[in-house]
Amino acid sequence: MKQEVPTLCVPDDEKSCFGCCPPIRPPGYEHVQYKNFIRRILRENTACFDRKATDIVPITGFSCWAMGYLDRDYKLVGCLLHPAQNNGVDLRFRVAYGDKCRRESCLQATIFSALSLPEKRFWLHLADGLDSFSYSSKSINPLFHLIMWGTNILQAVYSSESPAVFTRESFRDVYPVFSSRILPRAAAYLINRIVGTDKVHLLKSEAFKKEFEDFFHELSVSLKKQLLPQQQGLFVHLLDMDHDFLDFLRLAIPVSRITLQHAISIKENVDERVEAFASNFQ
Ligand code: SF4
Repeated sequence: MKQEVPTLCVPDDEKSCFGCCPPIRPPGYEHVQYKNFIRRILRENTACFDRKATDIVPITGFSCWAMGYLDRDYKLVGCLLHPAQNNGVDLRFRVAYGDKCRRESCLQATIFSALSLPEKRFWLHLADGLDSFSYSSKSINPLFHLIMWGTNILQAVYSSESPAVFTRESFRDVYPVFSSRILPRAAAYLINRIVGTDKVHLLKSEAFKKEFEDFFHELSVSLKKQLLPQQQGLFVHLLDMDHDFLDFLRLAIPVSRITLQHAISIKENVDERVEAFASNFQ
């Protein structure tokens, strides 16, 4: 199976992501925890799979009978009913999961798809050497976490580093900020405004990491005191404003409802404080 344009789901011929199949599983579950058992199931599923059958066989348990190997070398794992495996015909109706399978995609895949081909290749090096089980694991594959910092930061780091190639280890050593415990979606708005395209070097500094974490926590706590008692208005994600800023409101404070006027005034306040913080760094 030749992979010309890498996607986050199938980055190359060595691995694929099957982390969200089937879509309903217990929190924290990862296939890699049951690797040997699942490998056996995948071989059985692949061997028993009948491409011509049309009967409906609902999924039971946390594994799906349509999940199997997509290549002869048993490296790529994925959906045997997917249109890509069946000359464009979607056979996923056979598991009776309704639209769940068709809808299933992750935010990481959406963010990744907005990158250029060289940018994709640059970031995918961090997954070199992983097999499909490790690649599908949120605790092993660093891309799940990293990509959530958003397209702008991923592009800024690529522009500043290309044509360098990082391994998982060297990237973690050079860029400590990305190992922060702060939720990337909660802080992406702030880090984008501080770093922009010309201060990528800040992301390499342990001192900056510490100061940024303190700034993030102080800002979140002070806004929380101001905002939490008066949650009214629209759901935050429905406001017509910068999506990164809305994620900051939703995840860092966290606030679920706010009026547009209130959100605009909070944004002005946040922007001022970010500018003052950023002026400490060159
Ligand atoms: S039918 Fe395909 S997409 Fe749906 S859960 Fe099974 S393997 Fe995944």
